[in-house]
Amino acid sequence: MIKEIEVKSILSTNEHPEYWFGAKYTMNLYRGCEHRCIYCDSMSQCYRIDNFEDVLVKVNAIELLREELSKKRLKGIIGTGAMSDPYTFVEGKYKLTEKALKCISDFGFPVHMITKSDMVLRDKEILQQISRTHASVAFTITTVDDVLSAKVEPFAPSPTRRLKAMKELSAAGIITGVTMMPILPFIEDDEESIKAIVKKASENGASFIIGAFGVTLRDRQRDYYYKKLDENFPWLRDKYEEVYGETYSCSSPKSKRLYDVFKEECKRYHIISSMKHLPWNKEYEQLSFI
Ligand code: SF4
Repeated sequence: MIKEIEVKSILSTNEHPEYWFGAKYTMNLYRGCEHRCIYCDSMSQCYRIDNFEDVLVKVNAIELLREELSKKRLKGIIGTGAMSDPYTFVEGKYKLTEKALKCISDFGFPVHMITKSDMVLRDKEILQQISRTHASVAFTITTVDDVLSAKVEPFAPSPTRRLKAMKELSAAGIITGVTMMPILPFIEDDEESIKAIVKKASENGASFIIGAFGVTLRDRQRDYYYKKLDENFPWLRDKYEEVYGETYSCSSPKSKRLYDVFKEECKRYHIISSMKHLPWNKEYEQLSFI
């Protein structure tokens, strides 16, 4: 169900931009997400989204954004896409992301977006304008196998579509890359899969890939994940329970080897593979006092 809500503020300040693509501010225009990835962290109780099937539309977000940006002294990067995809399907109707990008462009702020959707192409021209300051778009890709993706990210556009969108944005001069996380243990954690992601990312214009070799699981999120494992990978629940129990951070047993392979492949394709080496990370904190 789609519900319209009003909120009191729209930007929050990130205490550690260096761990989050250099984003000083974060913004979520929606709560809940229609892509329904089986591993979605936003289902955890701490985020207090009671029914993840609902998408809450922050209808006063743009008004607030304009007001809050006019008061900011620091033109830090505005990050979006961590808690809800900025191009979840309702965006087609409400266009809050498009309006927010126009507003960000008007105020001359830089932006970093994370998405699984090729709907971002709709906003290519606005992102090009923001690029004069800084615009980067990270596409989350956990596998390049469209069939597997349809099981773990059931309503998100396929990895093939995401890669195609990345290629188009990159050709338009927008910085693009991949968030390769989570990599689901016993499902996506094999060397060939990691190599394939890096290769495809390189072929489609990625200049960076930030990876993590495992998944985090807690409370409601774990319950949902296990329910979906039972439906799609019925042999895996016992294995997860045996290996991870109630552990929050569930690293792949092969994570060390996968990390080495990942680093090697990124080096081979000249792709940045760590957050601290993103050229714009830190840079804006030093340059952006106005
Ligand atoms: S796209 Fe992101 S926010 Fe949306 S369901 Fe998937 S993991 Fe959650």
